[in-house]
Amino acid sequence: MTADRGDDPHVRHLLGAYVLDALEAEECGPVAGHLQQCEACAAAYVEVADAVSLLALLNVDDLLE
Ligand SMILES: [Zn+2]
Repeated sequence: MTADRGDDPHVRHLLGAYVLDALEAEECGPVAGHLQQCEACAAAYVEVADAVSLLALLNVDDLLE
Protein backbone atom coordinates (compact mmCIF):
# COMPACT_ATOMS: atom_id res chain seq x y z
CA MET A 1 0.00 0.00 0.00
CA THR A 2 1.25 3.43 -0.84
CA ALA A 3 0.55 6.44 1.31
CA ASP A 4 -0.94 8.74 -1.24
CA ARG A 5 -1.95 11.92 0.52
CA GLY A 6 -4.62 12.92 -1.97
CA ASP A 7 -6.29 9.56 -1.45
CA ASP A 8 -5.88 9.21 2.30
CA PRO A 9 -9.20 8.43 3.99
CA HIS A 10 -7.68 9.21 7.37
CA VAL A 11 -7.91 12.55 9.10
CA ARG A 12 -4.59 12.76 10.92
CA HIS A 13 -3.51 15.80 8.97
CA LEU A 14 -6.66 17.60 10.11
CA LEU A 15 -6.46 16.68 13.79
CA GLY A 16 -4.38 19.68 14.84
CA ALA A 17 -6.86 22.11 13.36
CA TYR A 18 -9.75 19.98 14.65
CA VAL A 19 -8.48 20.07 18.23
CA LEU A 20 -7.93 23.80 17.99
CA ASP A 21 -11.44 24.23 16.61
CA ALA A 22 -9.93 25.78 13.49
CA LEU A 23 -11.71 23.65 10.90
CA GLU A 24 -14.59 24.79 8.77
CA ALA A 25 -17.93 23.39 9.95
CA GLU A 26 -18.17 21.17 6.88
CA GLU A 27 -14.78 19.64 7.66
CA CYS A 28 -15.54 19.01 11.34
CA GLY A 29 -18.42 16.60 10.71
CA PRO A 30 -16.44 14.12 8.58
CA VAL A 31 -13.50 14.28 10.99
CA ALA A 32 -15.72 13.55 14.00
CA GLY A 33 -17.40 10.72 12.09
CA HIS A 34 -14.08 9.23 11.06
CA LEU A 35 -12.76 9.36 14.62
CA GLN A 36 -15.68 7.22 15.76
CA GLN A 37 -14.86 4.51 13.22
CA CYS A 38 -11.09 4.58 13.06
CA GLU A 39 -9.07 3.43 16.03
CA ALA A 40 -5.78 4.70 14.59
CA CYS A 41 -7.05 8.24 14.09
CA ALA A 42 -8.88 8.21 17.43
CA ALA A 43 -5.57 7.34 19.12
CA ALA A 44 -3.81 10.08 17.19
CA TYR A 45 -6.55 12.48 18.23
CA VAL A 46 -5.97 11.69 21.91
CA GLU A 47 -2.25 12.42 21.44
CA VAL A 48 -2.91 15.72 19.73
CA ALA A 49 -5.52 16.72 22.31
CA ASP A 50 -3.04 15.90 25.09
CA ALA A 51 -0.35 18.04 23.50
CA VAL A 52 -2.78 20.91 23.07
CA SER A 53 -3.98 20.70 26.66
CA LEU A 54 -0.34 20.86 27.80
CA LEU A 55 0.18 23.95 25.68
CA ALA A 56 -2.97 25.43 27.16
CA LEU A 57 -1.33 25.28 30.58
CA LEU A 58 1.10 27.89 29.37
CA ASN A 59 0.09 31.46 29.76
CA VAL A 60 -0.73 32.85 26.32
CA ASP A 61 0.33 36.31 27.40
CA ASP A 62 3.76 34.97 28.29
CA LEU A 63 4.09 33.52 24.82
CA LEU A 64 3.17 36.74 23.12
CA GLU A 65 5.57 38.94 25.04
ZN1 LIG B 1 -8.29 6.98 10.25
